Amino acid sequence: MSITIRIDTDAIAANVRTLREHADGAQVMGVVKADGYGHGLIESGRAARAGGATWLGTAQPAEALALREAGDTGRILTWLYGPDGPFPALVAADIDMSFGSLKVLEAIASAARAAGTAPRLHLFVDTGLGREGCPLDLLPELLDRAKELQDEGVVRIVGMWSHLAWADQPGHPTINLQATVFLVGLEMADERGIALEVRHLANSAATLTRPDLHFDLVRPGIAMYGRPPVEDPDGGDWGLVPAMSVTTRLALVKPVHAGQGVSYGHEYTTDRETMLGLVPVGYADGVFRAGGGGRAQVAIGGRRYPIAGRVCMDQFVVDLGADTEATEGDEVTLIGADGPSAADWAEAVGTIDYEILCRFGGLRPKADS
Ligand SMILES: *Cc1c(COP(=O)(O)O)cnc(C)c1O
Repeated sequence: MSITIRIDTDAIAANVRTLREHADGAQVMGVVKADGYGHGLIESGRAARAGGATWLGTAQPAEALALREAGDTGRILTWLYGPDGPFPALVAADIDMSFGSLKVLEAIASAARAAGTAPRLHLFVDTGLGREGCPLDLLPELLDRAKELQDEGVVRIVGMWSHLAWADQPGHPTINLQATVFLVGLEMADERGIALEVRHLANSAATLTRPDLHFDLVRPGIAMYGRPPVEDPDGGDWGLVPAMSVTTRLALVKPVHAGQGVSYGHEYTTDRETMLGLVPVGYADGVFRAGGGGRAQVAIGGRRYPIAGRVCMDQFVVDLGADTEATEGDEVTLIGADGPSAADWAEAVGTIDYEILCRFGGLRPKADS
């Protein structure tokens, strides 16, 4: 594969330090789900720890277990599974677990009884995202059962948490609404004598824009990888540094006449004598096909070039112009400090930078674990 994905782990550590300054007093959980948003699970986890993250978070339980196997001894929370767990492995690995239903709670309790140790659990309240977690109506019943199991010494309820729907739109009315529902949930836990160690609600956007919603712990993901989730009112990037760069090298540079159609379907035609550059990566390498037709750009020698014509499976073409100094072997930056950002790609192809990072990151060789 001719695509090169570089991950600047120092940038991840520095971003976590920056987020800690914003979190002021709250602990930081580095969210490393989805292979660290494509940056590598183990490396991202290590970098987050180096930056001062006292927690790591993964959606997939297998990723939490992989962090432990790689030697991470800190607090790790995992949250996305049904009643099939894998709870025995998670209990044995001392992973904090989320639950949002009686069925999952009972399944965790069985594994805990079998192991003879009481795992630490976080009750996920659906305060309005309409995704994971227990709706408020069912919360009293779930809390009662959780308290019973805690009193029997089977589990420890250490956390209550939730997730925001509109955090990337500061001022959206649902943010305060969700916070209010969360407070109701916390009160219900308090009424039952459940003493919580950590209450947590804020993702990256809320970490940066809603200090009143930090509670005991914040859970930044995208910001840790250097992508600002919301506009910085100071006109900067919140001091965040992108950690991923994506590059390749020009495979071919050649002269063509005016009127030359370029790539499948000849969607682009040269309007003058010019030089074409062949970039040897395509949609099989994560380059969105929707970026063709001039929508997405790459940088060569510090200059931007739109993609000329369609993106193919393994390659695409740029029109370098007649006077170009670019030659075969020159570096082509798809994402990087001297080229387009993940956000530029997202805008070009109609998605969010999260998907751009996961897509390109998915092509990284998994040599770490
Ligand atoms: C992904 C995720 C986060 C991190 O979100 P960002 O927007 O990347 O900061 C936090 N909490 C939960 C539950 C998540 O699923």
